[in-house]
Amino acid sequence: MPLYFKYYFWLLAISAMVFLLERVAAARRDQAVVRDDLVQDLVWMVLNTQYISWMLALASVWVVGWLDATLLHLGLPTPQTARLISDWPVWLQFVTVFVVKDLIEWTVHRWMHLNPWLWRFHVLHHSVEQLDWAATFRSHWGEIVLHKLIIYLPLVVLGVDDRVIFAVVIIGLLAQELSHANLPWGFGPLRYVITSPRFHAWHHDVEMHGRGGQNFGVNLVLWDWLFGTAYWPKDRNAPAAFGFEGQQDYPKDLWGRLWEPFRIRRRSPKTETAAVGPSPAPKPGDSSQD
Ligand SMILES: [Zn+2]
Ligand SMILES: [Zn+2]
Repeated sequence: MPLYFKYYFWLLAISAMVFLLERVAAARRDQAVVRDDLVQDLVWMVLNTQYISWMLALASVWVVGWLDATLLHLGLPTPQTARLISDWPVWLQFVTVFVVKDLIEWTVHRWMHLNPWLWRFHVLHHSVEQLDWAATFRSHWGEIVLHKLIIYLPLVVLGVDDRVIFAVVIIGLLAQELSHANLPWGFGPLRYVITSPRFHAWHHDVEMHGRGGQNFGVNLVLWDWLFGTAYWPKDRNAPAAFGFEGQQDYPKDLWGRLWEPFRIRRRSPKTETAAVGPSPAPKPGDSSQD
């Protein structure tokens, strides 16, 4: 089966599974199945998985071809011929790629919260007010391009096995849909290692609990626990509200949201400082729970 169909098979299978889990074990039982912006999130899903990813795949093939041709022209070995990683066993490639990619994603994610210009792109993801499986896909294409260029292009250049990249993509998709799902799970002691619906819900809290926010882990969350950006209060199960401060001024329609990062505006330090600026020190007992 071509990779293209395999990807859509897993996208549908994982989405259906998470959707059904939400129906039987919802964390927020009063949240409507057909919530506000659901249709728009489905459009983001099609746009981001269908067009942006494939355009990037084509672009990366072009960039790799250009890089190879340039290196050959200069009489230098190409990364593929250097076989830096492609000779490793598949399982070792998988573990290395999964962990390294995740640390890079954590770093980029944090950077998007701290840099006002990058925040303009990432804020779309934080405009979600009702988290569920479909909210996973609300991301600006500018952010996707940044992630893919930083993460997947080096993997292709290094000659990582296609099966490894595919497995990493599918496991990432499962982790992302589960972490945005309307589910009450924290995954017990695994909460220090992998993301969970409860952990990621705090990332979407309107209120910030550290500089730029908290809980930046994408698939693995041990980075947050190691580097002091984890937030998991003992006395509350979930934030009072999802979103970001200043959301009332953010566009609601798809085109407005697509255009928003490029909109020339008078300096509005208040909004951007509110979104990315320093926040109060964590309260005692905030950072861990049984
Ligand atoms: Zn974020
Ligand atoms: Zn999220």
